[in-house]
Amino acid sequence: MGIRVGIPRALLYYRYYPAWKTFFNALQAEVVLSPETNKEILDAGVRLAVEEACLPVKIYLGHLACLRDRGADLIFVPRVVAVEEKKYFCPKILGLPEIARCSVPGLPELLTVEVNMRKKARKVISCLKKAAAVFDCRPGTAEKAIRAASKAQKRYGLAMSRGGLTPADYLNGVQSAANNHRRLKVGVLGHAYNIYDLFLSMNIIGKLKDLGAEVITTEMLSFEAVRAGQECFSKESFWTFGHELLGAAGYFHKKGIIEGLVLVASFGCGPDSLICELVERYYRRRQEIPVLLITLDEHTGEAGVVTRLEAFVDMLQWRRQTL
Ligand code: SF4
Repeated sequence: MGIRVGIPRALLYYRYYPAWKTFFNALQAEVVLSPETNKEILDAGVRLAVEEACLPVKIYLGHLACLRDRGADLIFVPRVVAVEEKKYFCPKILGLPEIARCSVPGLPELLTVEVNMRKKARKVISCLKKAAAVFDCRPGTAEKAIRAASKAQKRYGLAMSRGGLTPADYLNGVQSAANNHRRLKVGVLGHAYNIYDLFLSMNIIGKLKDLGAEVITTEMLSFEAVRAGQECFSKESFWTFGHELLGAAGYFHKKGIIEGLVLVASFGCGPDSLICELVERYYRRRQEIPVLLITLDEHTGEAGVVTRLEAFVDMLQWRRQTL
């Protein structure tokens, strides 16, 4: 049996899991994925994290504890700094390896790779090769694993931007999106680890679909569409997530492809407090598309979220019939 590499089903899992899994499988490692977030994982994360941590980081720590208890030999905790020029991930994501080590006692060894596209691409490749060396494979296997991972990531991106799938659809093996052009079009904007984690988000996307809406998210847009949408705002965000959320908000509005927008923010998230405010102001000034802001924390009640979503969708239906 190969080395068991634990991957927490949280934070950047929703963005890079196909690449990570392909990489480790090509190195003959066994990938151990933590389960879907549940109350136990949330409670463990809340106990382990400092009070000021945002909810997604608390949940990440709960997933780490779960992998520790499941006997993973190593846990993959990458440090993703930048994946494009002049844009950065949030400091909590940059500091994940340190946060993990200081917060969760008894963790097995952490496998940390730094991804920083501000440095030369060959630096990232040499970090990946260094990580691959842990698995004691034949010469050339690391290069093959990197190539296979990059192809898997490309397929994942295309399935979303061209195929209209969400990360959750793709990761659950859904092959094609079922679009119905008569349904209400609702944009849902938030970090992937918030809106696709069923427990954390209380399945906001599923509930909107049940209420008759077709949901459009940032991941379904191409890189070019996000860049074009960002131009609607006077300043570019230097946070990767902020850039994507502003870009999607601008693009949705500019192209008139949504009838309502649901913004999902995390309590305790600095970037969200700024970005959501900018998006809300932008939409409010134009008064064309209603916006619903939902802030999630560990105390958010499902009943309240359902009531707000139902009222929002009713209002959108009413607008469609009367305007
Ligand atoms: S962007 Fe916000 S929610 Fe995400 S890790 Fe950073 S502080 Fe937490």
